[in-house]
Amino acid sequence: MTNATPSIRFLNTLTRRKERFTPIEAGKVRMYTCGPTVYDYAHIGNFRAFLFEDLLKRWLEYSGYKVTHVMNLTDVDDKTIRGSQKQQIPLKQYTQHYANAFFEDIKKLNIKPATHYPKATDHIPEMVTLIKTLMEKGYAYKSQDGSIYYAINKFKNYGKLSHTKIAELKTGARVKTDEYTKEEAQDFALWKTWTPEDGDVFWETDLGKGRPGWHIECSAMSMRYLGETFDIHCGGIDNMFPHHENEIAQSEAATGKKFVNYWLHNEHLLVEGRKMAKKLGNFYTLRDLLGKGYDPIAIRYLLLSTHYRQQFNFTLEGLDAAKSAIERLRNFTRRLQDANGKESEGKVASALHVVQTGFGCAMDDDLNVSVALGALFDFVRDVNALLDAGIVSKKEADSVYTVMQRFDTVLGIIGEVEQEEPLPKEAKDLIQKREEARKAKDWAAADALRIRLREMGVVVEDTPQGAKWHLEKTD
Ligand SMILES: [Zn+2]
Repeated sequence: MTNATPSIRFLNTLTRRKERFTPIEAGKVRMYTCGPTVYDYAHIGNFRAFLFEDLLKRWLEYSGYKVTHVMNLTDVDDKTIRGSQKQQIPLKQYTQHYANAFFEDIKKLNIKPATHYPKATDHIPEMVTLIKTLMEKGYAYKSQDGSIYYAINKFKNYGKLSHTKIAELKTGARVKTDEYTKEEAQDFALWKTWTPEDGDVFWETDLGKGRPGWHIECSAMSMRYLGETFDIHCGGIDNMFPHHENEIAQSEAATGKKFVNYWLHNEHLLVEGRKMAKKLGNFYTLRDLLGKGYDPIAIRYLLLSTHYRQQFNFTLEGLDAAKSAIERLRNFTRRLQDANGKESEGKVASALHVVQTGFGCAMDDDLNVSVALGALFDFVRDVNALLDAGIVSKKEADSVYTVMQRFDTVLGIIGEVEQEEPLPKEAKDLIQKREEARKAKDWAAADALRIRLREMGVVVEDTPQGAKWHLEKTD
């Protein structure tokens, strides 16, 4: 579709209100999502965020927008440096391994690639320029050890995203680590002067010998690729403070302009009812789950089927249910391809209207995917009933198929459901024989024939309309 409709609404974390989405430039969306810190394999909590962002991007594209999506790779910070030292390999080699793993993982989950994946280490000059601007404008200062800090009391809107009140700020209280809590809101490091613990990780710049803090990279890289003001910024709720708060402080102080119009945050993930933690034995990377034999598309479905702003409890049973939900959609799509019944006299058209409206309205309403999926499964049930009754014509089935494929550009779970190949004559004869055996109530013979067909890769199922067959998947 090319006609972007202005009907999408998002809950904007900045205002805590649901707002109608209006992009800066008509028909185009510029969006930034915080990417992985490439120091380990990403876990399913990370993927919940990446899948929510994928769903958001796909919905915007479905609605006719052209999306420019930037996701950074954090390849220098406290964690990556510590990790590479532990393994005694150069930082670049260490982070490259996990960056490659990340790209393999998102491919398995059918996450559409971003337009740009800038790495922090490739954008040091942009960060240095930004920090210099902040110093010139009086928002940043050098401490005695040579590190540079952001003075949060200079930025009057500090706390506007996370609603943190900086009431009793101790002048000069500073935090050098990248991660800290709201209670510890202090001046944070923009540039960390080199210390022996950093080993060979440093850059010689106008700011001295050192490395950037974590927060500055997202300000520098988002503005480099998307401009000083852009449409959407997403991330997990954990990143709202301090990371996103600091991004706003850095960017808006430097440019004097609004940084981002819509902030969207996804909620936490629980696993088996508890916060995911290695010591609780409920910590899963994607690789852990694939190693147990779970289907990546079932993982995709499960992680995106709950509304992003709701806390979500991940369970292994949930994965089994996800698998059967996907199978239901795939079987339905497959079934449409050999529908050749009577015209439904408007029943199919009316069901199509209902599902398109229901799915669309739900997704437009701050990506309410669980309601959208509810509408979709109601539709599948209704059309299946029509197919059972033999009242879906070929033409009607084709239009249903087209709509299913279009929904799947958003969901990414059905995939290519191949047209059935014609059956070899031998198999046709066996099916015919089996039908005769069934009519004669010779169940033993019917079962034996079913087994022979199975050996030929033909799966036969008995339905109220007689036997149906499909070729067994060979992958
Ligand atoms: Zn970020």
